[in-house]
Formats: sequence, structure tokens, C-alpha cells
Amino acid sequence: MILLFGPPGAGKSMQGQMLAARQGWKWLSTGEMLRRSNDPAVIDILRSGELVSDALIYQVFEQAVQDARDKKYPNIIVDGFPRTKEQAAWLDEYMARMSEKIDTVISLEVPEAEIMRRLEKRGRLEDTPEAIARRMTIYRQKMYPVLGIFAEAGVRIVHLDGVGTAGEVHDRIYEEVAYACQL
Ligand code: AMP
Repeated sequence: MILLFGPPGAGKSMQGQMLAARQGWKWLSTGEMLRRSNDPAVIDILRSGELVSDALIYQVFEQAVQDARDKKYPNIIVDGFPRTKEQAAWLDEYMARMSEKIDTVISLEVPEAEIMRRLEKRGRLEDTPEAIARRMTIYRQKMYPVLGIFAEAGVRIVHLDGVGTAGEVHDRIYEEVAYACQL
């Protein structure tokens, strides 16, 4: 598995989809799966910028990985999970249980001013000014520490510049993924 990490608006989804299309791999975005949910309570949480419950996320993630494995995808690009230390600990246990491994974590770095410009343009349901502010706070408080957990576990983390055209950022990511997965 490849894990894409970074703040909202860093380009994880676009880059995840580009890499998946190029390699015939599965792009697995917990946020995208939740956005397609028909549950109004879930949509309300997304609109607020808060995180959904761990229990729901584990269920969504496990089911999606199972589905990708059943469909024989050679690899999975995970976008948006884990987002907290608790989720990272759960993932570690899950990886051991399922004999999965993290090939590399790609952390996309984008300056906050650029992120704000991108999110204002994007206009997803969770891109209101209040929800953007909340998600940035959650990123700093909850998501960023996840990198520390990965580092302690000896997982390879690559920090890449997420500024530039989609193609330029893709080339940077591809080079690292090709190395990590021996493509
Ligand atoms: P994303 O598309 O990854 O930015 O996710 C959009 C929204 O989905 C987030 O703001 C959260 O409300 C929810 N979400 C996605 N992934 C997770 C996760 N791992 N844990 C909790 N909530 C999540």
C-alpha cells in the first residue's frame, strides 16, 4: 500500500487518481467514499469539517481493501487514512493481521496560502470557510502526529513538494513510488 498524506487541498485525491490510472492500482479515498454516503448524519459531519467516528472509518476502510483485493488490484493507494494516532495504531494492527505492508508514505507539502486558494476554488461540500478552518486545525492537532507514529514504526516517509502542475507533482511522486515498489 501507498499512503498519501498531507493537509486538505494538498492534491492527494488528484494525485492518487493519476497514479492509480497509470498503474492500474486502486485509489482508496475514505473521504470520497463518505461523500457518496446516503446517510444524512455522515454528510452533516463532513459539512462541519469534523472527523467521522473511528468505528465507521474502520468499517469503510476494511470493506474497501477487501473489495480491492477481491478484484485483484496489484496495489492500493490510500488517501485520507489514517487521520489520528488511534487510527494509525489500528492500521498497524490491521496490516499485521492481514499481512499487508506500507511501501511508503508520501507526504505532500503545500504552503497554507496556496492551500487556501485551492480550497476556495474547489467548492466541495466541506469547503465552506468554517469547515476549512476546522479541517486545518484538525490537520495540525490530529493528523500531523500520525507522521511521528509512522516514523517510530520505521515506515518510510517521503516529503514531496506539492506545488506545481499536476503533471510535475505526479512525476515527483512516481519517482518515489517506483523506487519504493521496485517498478
Ligand atoms: P478528504 O476527502 O480526505 O478530505 O475527507 C473529507 C472528510 O471526510 C473529512 O473532512 C472527514 O470529515 C471525513 N474523513 C475522511 N477520512 C477520514 C478519516 N480517516 N477519519 C475520520 N474522518 C474522515
